[in-house]
Amino acid sequence: MMTITYPVKSGLYVNMTNRCPCACTFCLRQNSDSVYGSDPLWLDREPTVKEVCESLVSADYKKYSEIVFCGFGEPTERLNDLLEVAKFIKENSNVPIRINTNGLSDLINGEKTARKLEGLIDTVSISLNATNKEDYLEVVQSKFGIESFEKMLEFTRDCVKFVPNVVMTVVDTVTSKEEQEKALKICEDLGATLRIRPLE
Ligand code: SF4
Repeated sequence: MMTITYPVKSGLYVNMTNRCPCACTFCLRQNSDSVYGSDPLWLDREPTVKEVCESLVSADYKKYSEIVFCGFGEPTERLNDLLEVAKFIKENSNVPIRINTNGLSDLINGEKTARKLEGLIDTVSISLNATNKEDYLEVVQSKFGIESFEKMLEFTRDCVKFVPNVVMTVVDTVTSKEEQEKALKICEDLGATLRIRPLE
């Protein structure tokens, strides 16, 4: 049995892929099969759009405060499928939709992608992780190399044009006060909101 949807607090999370171009040093997948007491999030295969929608319906998705695309992998690896699922949710409910992402969608998909989110995604939460390209690469170990940081910032800047809420996150325990101040400045320049989050 595959865990396609799983509840976290008042939200329902969607686990569509295990693919990811990064190998973050803090990635939860390294030490665990699950998060927040979920069933294992490793997928035997990627569920179809139909299977994801069926899983949402079985989980009674309309009762949740938010649907969050976030699992054991980078959701934008399946951006078009994700947006089809978002369309299904939007057509049938008013539940807000968030994507938690590493922000490398443009590199993954080989094109500018933020515009596609317009009208379907309410919040994008992007892991900022570091405040310069060298430190960023050291933390996320992206297969796209040193250009990853700039491309992630560019995607964020684009999202601000098409998505109502754009949030960037850094982890409190692994960033200094100085780095958090730099992160705040980066977010202000891009038009995003900084969230300093605890290590999960
Ligand atoms: S981007 Fe997310 S899924 Fe990918 S390695 Fe980093 S923490 Fe893990």
